[in-house]
Amino acid sequence: MVMRGMLRGLGSGKPASARAHAGAASGRGADLGQRRALLEAVEDEGLGWFWASNVRNELTYLSASAVQRFAPGAALFGEPLSRLFETVGEVREQPQRPLSFLLGARSRVVEHIVRLEMPEGPQWWSLTGRPAFDEWGDFIGYRGIARDISAEYARQCDSSRLAEYDSLTGLANRHRMGTRLTAILTAFRLARRSCALLLLDLDRFKHVNDTLGHPAGDDLLKQVAQRLGRIIPEQAEIGRLGGDEFKIIIPDMDDRGKLGELAHRIIQMVSQPYSIEGSRAIIGTSVGIAVAPYDGIEPDELVKAADLALYAAKGSGRAQYRFYSNDLKDSAQERRAIEEDLRDALPRGELQLHYQPVVRSKSHRLTGFEALMRWNHPERGPINPAQFIPVAEESNLICALGEWALRQACEDAAAWPGDLLVSVNVSAPQFSAAGFVASVGKALAASGLAPGRLELEITESVFLGDGNMAARTFARLKRLGVRLALDDFGTGYSSLGYLRDAPFDKIKIDQGFVRGSTEEGQSNAAIITAIVGLAEALRMETTAEGVEAMDELALVAARGATNVQGFVFSRAISQADVLAKIASGDLYYEPSGPERHRADRRSLYRTVGVIHEDYRYDAMLRNLSRTGARIDGLIDVPVGTELVLDLGEGQLVVAIVRRSQDATQGLEFETPLISDGADGLCTRHRISPYALASAGMPLRALPRGEYPFLQDLIEPRDPSQPGRPRFMQLDLSATSSRAT
Ligand code: C2E
Ligand code: CA
Ligand code: CA
Repeated sequence: MVMRGMLRGLGSGKPASARAHAGAASGRGADLGQRRALLEAVEDEGLGWFWASNVRNELTYLSASAVQRFAPGAALFGEPLSRLFETVGEVREQPQRPLSFLLGARSRVVEHIVRLEMPEGPQWWSLTGRPAFDEWGDFIGYRGIARDISAEYARQCDSSRLAEYDSLTGLANRHRMGTRLTAILTAFRLARRSCALLLLDLDRFKHVNDTLGHPAGDDLLKQVAQRLGRIIPEQAEIGRLGGDEFKIIIPDMDDRGKLGELAHRIIQMVSQPYSIEGSRAIIGTSVGIAVAPYDGIEPDELVKAADLALYAAKGSGRAQYRFYSNDLKDSAQERRAIEEDLRDALPRGELQLHYQPVVRSKSHRLTGFEALMRWNHPERGPINPAQFIPVAEESNLICALGEWALRQACEDAAAWPGDLLVSVNVSAPQFSAAGFVASVGKALAASGLAPGRLELEITESVFLGDGNMAARTFARLKRLGVRLALDDFGTGYSSLGYLRDAPFDKIKIDQGFVRGSTEEGQSNAAIITAIVGLAEALRMETTAEGVEAMDELALVAARGATNVQGFVFSRAISQADVLAKIASGDLYYEPSGPERHRADRRSLYRTVGVIHEDYRYDAMLRNLSRTGARIDGLIDVPVGTELVLDLGEGQLVVAIVRRSQDATQGLEFETPLISDGADGLCTRHRISPYALASAGMPLRALPRGEYPFLQDLIEPRDPSQPGRPRFMQLDLSATSSRAT
């Protein structure tokens, strides 16, 4: 208050002499001495300082005690204010204009925070002042007050740091990430700039926390934060949302090719082993990606989209990334419905085990069966384990399902001839649950099955978490006498170190390597050879999985895989069929299947848009590969025609017609598609309709509803003025209803 009063006096715009004169004239002469004493006391006590500048904004006065504090003995007077005081860029998240700007504009300076470099460290002062004018109204400089606010400022910085940063990892916290995202999206919206959001969730982190303890968990999180910090792009902001969730904001990024590569690198980096207090731990991570403005414009929308993508990434097995797409909404709902029904599936007897034969690759003699779960849903019909096993893993139902499978498989296998093995899949959460080894022992005892006939199929993800614990469980299982197989080899974390130490009897070569191993220019055949070589060196058997065609069978046999499993011999069959096969006395299988594996051209029946000139047609997408597509529905489109294929959600692909017959065209894309993280394809960029418009593409040709952020820009199609089609279009309604 004292300050304000003085400021008013100082800033009244009249020269000091005039003011003194006015005071005397009004009969307040006696005040003058008192006033002076008061001012001196304020200055000396350091309650406040006074400063003044000349017409060039050079310092002409500063209270003696301030000079003493600032730079005793230095020549401050005559120095430009803006050189003496450096404006602090941001105060309470609000930007401050530089002092030079304010002074130049002769604006008032109000509690302007400046930084002073002092030998003992920086200090912060708050400056307040007004321009002063002489009796003719000419500017004569500033008059003002100053205050040292260093202590306050430091406290405020600390608390805002605390409020904005995660004290464990030093990364931005949930609050800060939220405000940053809002600020960026708001600023970018008008400028039509893009922004990517990545959400990460660590796989099996809880397991580390539970087995190695919370301090170890904290240490692990710190190491994860450091690794992430090293690989994310410079302009990106990274935060921890609490627990084992991380968020990365990357402004001006919409290249899904680059984002996919980054997500892949993140997964690789995070999955490298950690050393924590002498223990080794491995974790994984899943990544969900959404890109503004295509997947959402508001922060909430974008976060929700990235969340759904993360949920899908986790659902399609671990160590995956996934881009958001509209249909994830449905699949998330689907998963929740499955989870609900799955709880009752076991008590209601809806689950069954089927058995897929495994044969010697040389003789085609049966060596055993892999037990595969089947769910006969009362309404939905048969549901694939690839769909419900990940849901069961996520919701802890897997232990009950897994135990049931173990008991059932042992019981069934006890009725088979004594040399046939039964392989049972064991999920990672089941493997690391407390009672697992005991449940294996009980299943063996109850069925009377010889332990050497039970083979447990385990994936690399059991090594996630506390590595020592996995080793102890392996040792206990070996003491029981069961066999161990490493399933889906080569698809997961691909850390070979543990293969050497873990007591596996068999490696299962993932179908991904078998499929396409006979195509030219593929490295798969070489990988199969390498895995077989590795297994032989470690005295392990191998089973090549998913063999469908005769040429694949020939290849895996030639490359030395010991066993083969796949549709070329048989799909999984019921226990009744197994018993019938055994009763027939013929324990050999005859291969039958296509001669050759055919490149996987996905057949699709999906309507897409085709834009040519300013008309939008509907066409049926028959197949899609990275480099091209086949469409049905337009008649007599000449070879060489340039079209834009609209795959939905802003995925516009420039394509040229390479083949054309009647209503079918083969298209070649100008730029190839990229993987969407799952087994789908997407465009590298979502083409902003703004860009199309500026390139002369009429926005009118775009489907309404798919570009919510553009609604105002797309002029409604005037029904009296339809665009003019160049090609005839077939009525697709009959085919599209069949497709869905
Ligand atoms: P997996 O362990 O890799 O099982 C092999 C899968 O490949 C089975 O799919 C099988 O039907 C399929 N397959 C076999 N030969 C061929 C072939 O020639 N071509 C093609 N395209 N596929 C072939 P399924 O039964 O749908 O099981 C999927 C996954 O679900 C399994 O993959 C396994 O990870 C999991 N699973 C199945 N049963 C159980 C179970 O009882 N417990 C646990 N924890 N997981 C299970
Ligand atoms: Ca398996
Ligand atoms: Ca497998």
